[in-house]
Amino acid sequence: MTLSSATGIAVLSQGRAAVYEDPIGPAGVRIRERPKTEPVAGAVAVAIRASSINHLDLWLAHGAQKVTPPRVIAADGAGVVEASGDPAWRPGDEVVLYPTLCCWECEWCRSGQNVRCAKFGVIGEHSDGTACELFHIDARNVFRKPKGLSWEEAAAFPLTFLTAWRMLTTRARLQAGETVLVVGAGAGVAVAAISIAKHLGARVFATSRSELKRKRAVELGVEAAFDSTEFSKQVRQATGDGVDVVFEHVGPATLTESMRSIHMGGRIVTCGSTSGVKAEIAMPRLFWGQMDLLGSTMGNASEFEAVLKAIDNGLRPVVDSTYPLADVKAALTRLDAAEQFGKVVLSLEG
Ligand SMILES: [Zn+2]
Repeated sequence: MTLSSATGIAVLSQGRAAVYEDPIGPAGVRIRERPKTEPVAGAVAVAIRASSINHLDLWLAHGAQKVTPPRVIAADGAGVVEASGDPAWRPGDEVVLYPTLCCWECEWCRSGQNVRCAKFGVIGEHSDGTACELFHIDARNVFRKPKGLSWEEAAAFPLTFLTAWRMLTTRARLQAGETVLVVGAGAGVAVAAISIAKHLGARVFATSRSELKRKRAVELGVEAAFDSTEFSKQVRQATGDGVDVVFEHVGPATLTESMRSIHMGGRIVTCGSTSGVKAEIAMPRLFWGQMDLLGSTMGNASEFEAVLKAIDNGLRPVVDSTYPLADVKAALTRLDAAEQFGKVVLSLEG
């Protein structure tokens, strides 16, 4: 049991659940059965229809996250309210979950800056996660499911779209007509960024080592997709003097080329560093280039609501593949092989 809030509402993952038990990679995540209970006051019990996994779950499985097992994996979940300890929700309501943890009570939370809460974290890392049959969560994390989405799509968007939305709007202040380069297209957050940037009216370019993923990115609407090796030359050729914004999540392997891809006064926004935690940068490029180097992680509840509104207006997530919960090992292995384009979903239906 993990306390998710100052008010003491417990996050509980119940019924059949995908549990990280041993730090040996995908094989260390196993299906276990946990007893089901009624939600406490202020909490909602959601019968999960679909959950989705992120790179974070893979790091967890490999023992890289300093999380002591057992831990139920996954941040993203969508399902049907089974029982509610809060009058805002009734059994049968179709919902999605704001995929973060915060106290909801501190000054930052009350002023809408959940990301600055001292207890800010991600479901499935700092608490048990959504890869389970029945998930209990604070009612303030529960939002209506967008009508136009399937269960798989509803579970595919929360964490990546929340993260990419905050990066492109709040942090990088992307405007319609501006140019964006999304590196490492294929990762869930990068595919989300392509879709969101297109939705906001930007011109989008992408990079990937994989020819197949470059092709998929073009199908999703990018103007051109470049190989990851020395992509800045091609970006500058395609745009004149470079893009307005680079969307980063790869880190050391791409950062130098990313900095070479923007014009003077451009912005780089990053939410991750999958290629390593330390990067070297050419300082003169940063200051002579009048560059903004912006960090971001996840997002506020208000930004999650903005994503929901954008989905109502046509924004859509990309589902790479769907596996039954019982095949969680195969789902994690697909992420481990970096074969995916978009999100890998776990289905609890049937
Ligand atoms: Zn707080």
